Amino acid sequence: MNERHDTLPEAPYLAPAGSVRATSIHVDGEWRAARDGRVREIVDPADASVLTVVSEGGPDDAGDAVAAARRAFSGPWRSTPAGERGLLLERVAGLLRRDRAEIALAESLDTGKTVEEGGIDVDDVTAVFRYYAGLADKDAGRLVSAPEGVQSRIVYEPVGVCALITPWNYPLLQLSWKLAPALAAGNTCVVKPTEVTPVTTLKLMELLVEAGVPAGVVNVVTGSGPGPGAALAAHPGVDLVSFTGGLDTGRRIMAAAAPTVKRIALELGGKNPNIVFPDVDLDTAVDHALSAAFFHSGQVCSAGARLIVHEDVHDAFTAELARRADAIRLGRGQDRGVRCGPLVSEHHRAKVEAAVARGVEEGARIIAGGGRPAEPELRDGYFHRPTVFVDCDRSMDIVRTEVFGPVVTVERFRTEEEAIALGNDTDYGLSGGVWTGDTARGERVAAALRHGTVWINDYGPYFPGAEWGGFGRSGIGRELGPSGLAEYREAKHIYRNLSPEPQRWFG
Ligand code: NAD
Repeated sequence: MNERHDTLPEAPYLAPAGSVRATSIHVDGEWRAARDGRVREIVDPADASVLTVVSEGGPDDAGDAVAAARRAFSGPWRSTPAGERGLLLERVAGLLRRDRAEIALAESLDTGKTVEEGGIDVDDVTAVFRYYAGLADKDAGRLVSAPEGVQSRIVYEPVGVCALITPWNYPLLQLSWKLAPALAAGNTCVVKPTEVTPVTTLKLMELLVEAGVPAGVVNVVTGSGPGPGAALAAHPGVDLVSFTGGLDTGRRIMAAAAPTVKRIALELGGKNPNIVFPDVDLDTAVDHALSAAFFHSGQVCSAGARLIVHEDVHDAFTAELARRADAIRLGRGQDRGVRCGPLVSEHHRAKVEAAVARGVEEGARIIAGGGRPAEPELRDGYFHRPTVFVDCDRSMDIVRTEVFGPVVTVERFRTEEEAIALGNDTDYGLSGGVWTGDTARGERVAAALRHGTVWINDYGPYFPGAEWGGFGRSGIGRELGPSGLAEYREAKHIYRNLSPEPQRWFG
């Protein structure tokens, strides 16, 4: 095992490696162990060492958390003036800023991403809390045009108890997209972080307490998907499940939520086209194509994993892409100069390797990467080299199925119509990019692509105020923006007859 360069900060909810006393479940304002005392080791993906130990909650722990959230929902929280809830979110934003360096390092150690990326995540999370702090007391409702003698108005109320289930690629960021609007709207929450990377969720819980969130308003249950996750999705005391993760899990959550007709919000995967026309600066387009495909080792739902390149520039483009992909520096996310960390787990790397092998069997050709790095210092971690496939077509699984790793496929096109047809030929619909020097063409292609976000001459940026979500099998609902708040509100129509008189309909 390699020598450790950095360590997680000491925290009451984290136990040292080898310990069996972990208290990472937060219910009703208290940190506690799992009911049955089980724990889980959390592993540093860069060298497979044990970073820390957390509680492995089960369905009973999830039940305790839902009960606490229900009690808190019946208390004063939901009628707290919205402006006060906004101030609470603002305080959380301030604390995130204060602890930025610590959180960035924790996210890096837990997920494998670089510390720099971890810092960008913290900045984005801070911005999301700020955004919903500002939105909390806006749009309190509206009067509806009504006949004389009638007052008709729409008011917004919180949905109730929300289960927030998050993935491992952006653990804190994805949670913030749910938690900030849920709290702004006056809901109470049970958070079920991914069992793979729960550390920064626990840190955020600590900050929420410091900011003054009342006991029971936010609860956290660490543990597996089939354990507390499935229990929350089915629990009759949960009113809404907001989930970010894989398509198959999304289907399971929908099915589990159906008997109690819960509201659901699903942010699922993507197989996102990045279309390059020949009238662009190739250096810029290749540079962004690399970031789109290999940022966070491609473990990004909106990764530009499917390049669709005009045949006139295909060969020059792919040669340069391969050259630069092979030059990407892999390593520990905490080491300076590293651009790609490891994949998140051994299990996940095995899935990526299986997808690459399938691509080769299907006839796609690797022109960069393709396997594990040769450097001995990377041997213990879950690394995979950035990989470029050419000679791809849409019949191939490697083109159709989300790999969620550092793998990009390249297809060719000849006409604009063909590029659009290829870009839309996916079951998903999360995001896509188009590169062209022709403004009108860029707008035409953006309008025609059936994806939740389309970038023209860029790839990846998003704003807290701009809705995020998927068409097709990329999900249901929207996060961020005003729609991200609407997910957590019930609109209620209150009709008041100002001068009631008999109707005599029945005589
Ligand atoms: P995953 O589906 O394996 O797990 C996500 C969460 O669901 C985890 O907390 C897990 O414990 C929980 N879970 C698993 N089974 C469950 C069940 N039966 N009931 C309830 N909860 C259950 O996903 P992952 O591997 O952590 O994340 C990768 C996926 O997330 C990719 O497909 C990626 O595209 C997607 N993703 C989407 C977005 C987006 O904004 N659309 C953002 C990030 C990640």
